Amino acid sequence: MKYKVLLTHELFPEVHKKLQDLFELEVGIEGKEDLIKKVRDKHALLCFLKDPIDREVIDAAPELKIIANYAVGYDNIDVEYAKSKGIYVTNTPDLLTEATADLTWALILAVARRIVEADSFTRAGKFKGWEAKLFLGMELNGKRLGIIGLGRIGKAVARRASGFGMEIVYYKRKKLSPAEEKSLGVKFLSLEELLKSSDVISIHTPLTPDTENLINRERVYMIKRGAIFINTARGAVVDENALIERLENGSLFGAGFDVYKNEPEINPKLINLKNVVLLPHIGSATTQTRLAMANLAADNIISVLKGGKPITPV
Ligand code: NAP
Repeated sequence: MKYKVLLTHELFPEVHKKLQDLFELEVGIEGKEDLIKKVRDKHALLCFLKDPIDREVIDAAPELKIIANYAVGYDNIDVEYAKSKGIYVTNTPDLLTEATADLTWALILAVARRIVEADSFTRAGKFKGWEAKLFLGMELNGKRLGIIGLGRIGKAVARRASGFGMEIVYYKRKKLSPAEEKSLGVKFLSLEELLKSSDVISIHTPLTPDTENLINRERVYMIKRGAIFINTARGAVVDENALIERLENGSLFGAGFDVYKNEPEINPKLINLKNVVLLPHIGSATTQTRLAMANLAADNIISVLKGGKPITPV
């Protein structure tokens, strides 16, 4: 008997082939009800972040041996419940670190130098010649970058910051060793100190019960006046409404978002703000990275269905 694999959304042809050569592959779901129907007889599930893999889905799949998430974050999966049923859960760490750090910097620069606003202005035919005060932005050199969550992606963001001549401070639960702090050129601060003193703040924690609303209303109001806030982690780590209030009243320079609390829905107030840059969750979206992630997710499935261990278990 061939094992059956469900891939929730189309990926790359070569990755489909790799799975088809070994297993019976079904591709595509339309919503949760369809997922529940199609996962019933499957031995492996390759899913996206937007697919909620909760108890209902897991209970519907008695044969399931592995849930391979096409992402490093796995807040869409009830991991503990899956594990209690003997199902492996895997993610795609490391591969997307550099692409996501690049995107974070694209957002920092786009907000600081008002790139999107200036592009719209130019396309609209409003550029009538060089002006002294046209689109004045924030200079990054010599400013303080505060990184919340200094793991794989946070560190890659820090490495890039030294090239921009920024001072780097960070906050996480466990301090780095003095040697690691020295080699990265970073200094530990409490979360409150970081928020109050950083000119640019970028968050890189996973979404967990501990980090949900980590940057709550009170903390949003601690952010230094005139600062930039960047979120490429998960929407729910920050109180979006409080942040919008500060962006609306002009007490922050601006913000950049790749992720949203209720994505794909976006708060209409954000859309109306000029001092924000909004991206459609494309942190890891380079061809190289997405192909590597797809191959790793497929390889995790192959390894487990051949009786081995997963390569990157959660
Ligand atoms: P990682 O290596 O596990 O790093 C996470 C960091 O967050 C660690 O430094 C961890 O340090 C810190 N952290 C965890 N809980 C915390 C808490 N309660 N308070 C403060 N810091 C905390 O993860 P990664 O690979 O860098 O990825 C981070 C997240 O980025 C992913 O989980 C995902 O949600 C997001 N992401 C988004 C995109 C995108 O497309 N926009 C792409 C990739 C990843 P301590 O344990 O010491 O606290």
